[in-house]
Amino acid sequence: MLRWQQAEGKRHALDGTFPPRPEEQFTTLCGEEVTVAVCDVPQLGGNWFDPTCAECRAAWLARLARC
Ligand SMILES: [Zn+2]
Repeated sequence: MLRWQQAEGKRHALDGTFPPRPEEQFTTLCGEEVTVAVCDVPQLGGNWFDPTCAECRAAWLARLARC
C-alpha cells in the first residue's frame, strides 16, 4: 500500500506494507534511496514539517488514476 514517510528533508511516498523504521532505507516513489532518521518517526517524537515531495505526490496521483 502507498504511504507517506518523511526522510532526508522531504515527505516522500513509498509502496510498502509497513512504515520504515529508523536507520532503514527505502525507495521512494520518485526513485530516490533515502534513510529514515529517528526524528522522522512520529511515534519516536518526530514532527512531519518537511515539505511534501512533488514528484512522489505526482507518482501517487498517477497510480490512483489507474484504478
Ligand atoms: Zn519523493
